[in-house]
Amino acid sequence: MSFEKKRPVELIFLGSGGPFTLPQFFCRCEVCNAARKNPSQCRTRASVAIIGEEVTLIDAGPDLEMQLERENIHRVDNIFITHWHYDHIAGLGSVGYPQAMYGWNPIDIYVPKNLATHFDNELAFLKERLVLHPIVPSDVAELSDAEWEVVKTEHTMNSVGFIINSEKKVAYLVDTALPPNDTTLRIRDADLLIVDAMLDSIDTEWRHFTVQEAIEYCKSTGIPDCILTHLSCHRWENQRWLAGLSHSQRLDLERDNPGIRFAYDGMRVQI
Ligand SMILES: [Zn+2]
Ligand SMILES: [Zn+2]
Ligand SMILES: [Zn+2]
Repeated sequence: MSFEKKRPVELIFLGSGGPFTLPQFFCRCEVCNAARKNPSQCRTRASVAIIGEEVTLIDAGPDLEMQLERENIHRVDNIFITHWHYDHIAGLGSVGYPQAMYGWNPIDIYVPKNLATHFDNELAFLKERLVLHPIVPSDVAELSDAEWEVVKTEHTMNSVGFIINSEKKVAYLVDTALPPNDTTLRIRDADLLIVDAMLDSIDTEWRHFTVQEAIEYCKSTGIPDCILTHLSCHRWENQRWLAGLSHSQRLDLERDNPGIRFAYDGMRVQI
């Protein structure tokens, strides 16, 4: 289904990094040093803002305030949370204060059902400022700009992704390793796929795609436009933290794999 839009809807990558920023303050590898010299290569933690009649975020990481300021976003109406990891939820506290000070309507926040108890334990001070909507896979939420469907990802027991039916159909699967078959079936006619590609080398301890696995998965779906995000830019080998793919190696991968792009902070897509 395609949604009749009242005004153009734009998706902005607030951040395109993994759990650590690029550069990392403790790292002097060549990828971090290159990012220090080229601010356009720096990455903050992965999240996106969808701007139409309303402002809707997917995830709220620890860099959220700086990301919103950078993109001139001065209001938040809805937040969808994929899972309860620090790099996806640590910015939630910062949206509670303007809500109280400027009399915003309470922010609608959509959280995987089994994670809603985290609010009682960790964010009780936000309870009056947010309207909590527990979600499970297959739930559908109607917003003014798009219809949102919840799908399961392969990351934590309760992690989810989203299909956003605006004028385009967009699938957002971050964080994830190879998603469940049901999810792959649901996204098969999407126009745009945004997917986790955190690992620069195989590491079976993490439930994330490697860059190569993400590229293969994107190709297998047949979706014409695929964007890789949640990029770590490092690898972990023999107990050592090493540089990952360089900026030019990522450009080579884009050239060799038409239809596949790497996200960057501030990247914009019309949906
Ligand atoms: Zn993450
Ligand atoms: Zn580094
Ligand atoms: Zn995670």
